[in-house]
Amino acid sequence: MGNERQQNRGIRTPQIRERSELRRQVEEVVSSTKVIDIHTHLFAPQFGELNLYGIDELLTYHYLIAETFRSTDVSYESFWQLCKSDQADLVWKSLFVENTPISEAARGVVTLLSALKLDPSAPNLKEARAFFQSLCMEEHLERVLETAGVSDVVMTNDPFDTREAHIWESGAEIDGRFHAALRLDRILNNWQNTAERILYLAVSLPAVFKFPDADARDRILREVVLPTAREQKLPLAVMIGVRRGVNPALRRAGDGLGRADVEAVERMCAEYPDVRFMATFLSRENQHELCVAARKFNNLMPFGCWWFLNNPSIVSEITNERLELLGTSFIAQHSDASILEQLIYKWRHSREIIAASLCDAYERLLGSGRAVTREEIERDVTRLFSGNFNKWVGGLPGPAPLAEERQPEETDIVTAYRRLLPSKAIRVLSSQLKLRRSAP
Ligand SMILES: [Zn+2]
Repeated sequence: MGNERQQNRGIRTPQIRERSELRRQVEEVVSSTKVIDIHTHLFAPQFGELNLYGIDELLTYHYLIAETFRSTDVSYESFWQLCKSDQADLVWKSLFVENTPISEAARGVVTLLSALKLDPSAPNLKEARAFFQSLCMEEHLERVLETAGVSDVVMTNDPFDTREAHIWESGAEIDGRFHAALRLDRILNNWQNTAERILYLAVSLPAVFKFPDADARDRILREVVLPTAREQKLPLAVMIGVRRGVNPALRRAGDGLGRADVEAVERMCAEYPDVRFMATFLSRENQHELCVAARKFNNLMPFGCWWFLNNPSIVSEITNERLELLGTSFIAQHSDASILEQLIYKWRHSREIIAASLCDAYERLLGSGRAVTREEIERDVTRLFSGNFNKWVGGLPGPAPLAEERQPEETDIVTAYRRLLPSKAIRVLSSQLKLRRSAP
């Protein structure tokens, strides 16, 4: 009987009924399954100065700057007057020498330094600087991706950034593991300045974002972005909840968060059932509502735990909540990394938490009488780490079979970017916006 049931499910590997063995296998699968990092601020080496790496960049990242001001008497103004390496020295001294690097952002640096065989207890940055100055970028990138278990990296591309546009236009051969996502922020949140050049399909939105609304953002979304997402069959990713400049004296480190309106996303999903949305909210208080919204709309894909959420206790809570409400139909995590080596700690830390959440879920299932197999664990982790995203960017749901409609190379986001930017669409949209802007 049992055999028959196994055969019916097409399972070849045995069911795992012993709890410690289950735990061991889950940890093994989670740590070895490659992930597609669906949202980062990294750039392929071909982008030159936009490709940030090394100890000074890592330590002057805004997470650590904000934390430094809680443990030093240096004023904001005198900090900003320092050059980058002096800022890094101060951060190191404040957070890693004079204090114990317990916070998630600080421990992250410890994790990645250890992974690179550098001393995380060093009294200064001499050794680390020497290491980063002497490395070969190509080999280093290889090592970081390998250590992080990342197969592909999705960048955040801003066609209005002249440095970036220059690289795209030069036709340089971009590392094939790096993919593009079009960022809509400048057009949506600051449209007056950029109305003549448009279009990407990822946007970070403030906590006060409403849909529908009576502002320019609503019109651009409704009249330009969403129809374009539909026509071009590209999902729209929304990252909601930042409150910019809560403390302007902290500059980039001065952003906070606010509880946002999940109903706004529900309304977009309802009004645009043929557009695929990916959504992530910055406030812990929005997470449960997002899961419920995703149960109601199968064109909504929750993803990741970022920035202020990317802490073990909260990632654990959110992942458990998502597994309970959505099974494996969500994207477990993205790194949001801005500096290359951050990939190492973000993924190492996230994997630990995700493995623990999965173990708990499988154990409960076992308690209810249903054991899983190694194959099933692999299937589930692959879905969480790359499968759901692949499905999302691979085509749209709906009556028409997409395989025929959509050329295979169009699923490549880089191709989409190149196709979109100089296309007729952007010229049409530009002129529409110009018309609207000159209208009373
Ligand atoms: Zn981001």
